[in-house]
Amino acid sequence: MSELRDHDSVVTAQLVAKALSGSRRAIAQVVSLVENGGGAAREVMCSLYPRTGRAQVIGITGSPGTGKSTLVSALAKAYRGRGFTVGVVAVDPTSPFSGGAILGDRIRMRDLSGDPGVFIRSMATRGALGGLAATTSDVVRVLDAVGYQVILIETVGVGQAEVDVVRVAHTVLVVEAPGLGDDIQTLKAGIMEIADVFVVNKADLPGTDAVVSALRAAISLGRGALTYSGHHQLEMPARSNPAASGASDDSWQVPVHEVAALDHVGIDALVETIGAHAAYLHRSGLWQQREKERIESDLTGRLKQLVIQCLMAQLKAGEWETILESIAARELDPQTAAARLMGRLTNA
Ligand code: GDP
Repeated sequence: MSELRDHDSVVTAQLVAKALSGSRRAIAQVVSLVENGGGAAREVMCSLYPRTGRAQVIGITGSPGTGKSTLVSALAKAYRGRGFTVGVVAVDPTSPFSGGAILGDRIRMRDLSGDPGVFIRSMATRGALGGLAATTSDVVRVLDAVGYQVILIETVGVGQAEVDVVRVAHTVLVVEAPGLGDDIQTLKAGIMEIADVFVVNKADLPGTDAVVSALRAAISLGRGALTYSGHHQLEMPARSNPAASGASDDSWQVPVHEVAALDHVGIDALVETIGAHAAYLHRSGLWQQREKERIESDLTGRLKQLVIQCLMAQLKAGEWETILESIAARELDPQTAAARLMGRLTNA
């Protein structure tokens, strides 16, 4: 058994070495190992982690149909044009498919797929044992470690899980577009707070001005959440975005960019803004602060998962159900139940 494990470790180490030397096949296999979790994933992350922290990670979110995939493709081309290698992680929490199945159908990504400087990976909920955000951050780390300089994470901005996914990024773009109904979609979905930059895509279509002004109005109304600086720190629920009331001159004013991703219009200006945002994060100290917050939430998330797994392994068959029923019947309260369970863990 342990010989077998040693053998597996050697195979994993060889695979990691191949991935580091640039083999796309090996990179894809390493990503799959990480997605599947377990001991091999831990070994991979353990050996790759020291090489991470170099890539610039950009999150792209917004409602379906706003043109995120088209924008990701346009951004990838723009970064390639500037000489950067690009990794794309497309997360589709609603899809049962993983490992490239969805992207295979994405015509707009097809023109990127022949470029050895671009690596595209599609992920779905399936296989994301430690939660989608944790798995996404591991996949991003693999791409970072093997040398992709810019990593684009694309996800549909419709729920908390997707918001958590995109928070793995240094800079978050929230995409809107005209012609998708009267409301600003992201206002409805409650994801405005996570925007570092708003992108109004399909600026070639009528209705763009209305979307831009609605966003600008929303920004000035919610200025507290949408302007922040690294100097006056106040706790904000979404991120550590200090309220603008005390913002210094060097605060980040969330900009609204008009682009037509399909025709590559406005993309260069957007790339400049993303660069300016990264520079701002470094200058203000927010880069390190957010890094620390990401590490903390990653670590606490993993710990929670391990503690629960450990505990579940100690329970007798049906015991968990019995506890749930006792709580429902008001014979036991959740606090006491949790404390007792923890007691079992610490006495074990
Ligand atoms: P996603 O669901 O947010 O990933 O959106 P897609 O990238 O799949 O785009 C949805 C539709 O919008 C597709 O039919 C695209 O061709 C179209 N689209 C994307 N960008 C633009 C644009 O700049 N202008 C116009 N007119 N249509 C666009």
